[in-house]
Amino acid sequence: MTNPNKEDIYLLNYWKCPNCEDVQTFTGLCRDCTVYGESQNIIEPVRRIKVDKKGNKIISTPQRFESQSMAQLKQQFINQRSKKPTNKQLAQIEKEKELLKELESIKEKPNQEGIIEIGESALEEE
Ligand SMILES: [Zn+2]
Repeated sequence: MTNPNKEDIYLLNYWKCPNCEDVQTFTGLCRDCTVYGESQNIIEPVRRIKVDKKGNKIISTPQRFESQSMAQLKQQFINQRSKKPTNKQLAQIEKEKELLKELESIKEKPNQEGIIEIGESALEEE
């Protein structure tokens, strides 16, 4: 790996011995720190831990899920920003505006008329 390309960065794993911090590109026991018995039997194994290229311990977070939800959030953001009312929606807004105007103009009159009406009918009933 004299000329690491993008693929190397993603495919290559690094394993670091937590004891002597010796980084290798393969997993397994650290030969320097693992204590072997007389017959090469392992007495105290020191296993390398997975690290990133910089030697930082990789915390196994569901990165795929994280990046997916980030993409979703981004898409939502884009959707919100580019949300322009369609012609149909604009027509509906105009309709509602006119309806509101009508309602307001109606509201002003019936109040007075309504009072008179009630008074008249009340008189008739008695
Ligand atoms: Zn070691």
